[in-house]
Amino acid sequence: MSNVRTICPTCGHAHHWSWEEAFDKFGFGDGDDLVMTDAVADALRERGYTVTVTQWGLHNTIITDINRDGAALIPDTVTRGYDDPRKYLPKDVVDVLDREFRDGQRIDY
Ligand SMILES: [Zn+2]
Repeated sequence: MSNVRTICPTCGHAHHWSWEEAFDKFGFGDGDDLVMTDAVADALRERGYTVTVTQWGLHNTIITDINRDGAALIPDTVTRGYDDPRKYLPKDVVDVLDREFRDGQRIDY
């Protein structure tokens, strides 16, 4: 798990989080904490990936699909919201996220 921080616009304190939470139904305090899924999605969009974000009821907002050049990068065999994204995402995607959200990085809200 990566460990980055964001200054919360609501409480003014640093919130610590990891990019993996953007793929976890229960991430970001089950969606009650500062939800940074859009920052993770935008980091991929800036690099040419098409990203689908889905709000999961009372839970977190998660990335459910990533496409590149028309190819789906999250296989249908994946149980979205539960499986470990490090295990199913292509290496180039994991590398982008590890670089963008490396330990100690401060990410703007
Ligand atoms: Zn806060």
